[in-house]
Amino acid sequence: MHELPVINSILKVVMKHAVANNVNKVVAVHLKVGEMCDLEEKWMQDYFDYLAKGGIAEGARLVVEKTPVVMKCDNCGASFNVDTKQTDDIACPDCGGIKYSMVSGREYYITNMEAI
Ligand SMILES: [Zn+2]
Repeated sequence: MHELPVINSILKVVMKHAVANNVNKVVAVHLKVGEMCDLEEKWMQDYFDYLAKGGIAEGARLVVEKTPVVMKCDNCGASFNVDTKQTDDIACPDCGGIKYSMVSGREYYITNMEAI
């Protein structure tokens, strides 16, 4: 249930942009969400509808694009994508190293906003 605070902060950004650009109504919000965030699209839209009620972003559609989880090998520096369903046995495809740090996959941000 961690979608609620995430949507809350996204909506804040949406409203800030909407006010700054003098829009009448926000119709869609495009988001990029890292696979590691574990955010359910259905819940995101539900929470958005709930939080945006009565405001200019009410009824806006969320368009979610998942971004892959990318790791960087601590040993050789290679970057590689990781399947989130297979997080147990990750090894660097280049050197086989098992020490790595996450480059992306946990972030979420707004890429575009459609407004009228
Ligand atoms: Zn490596």
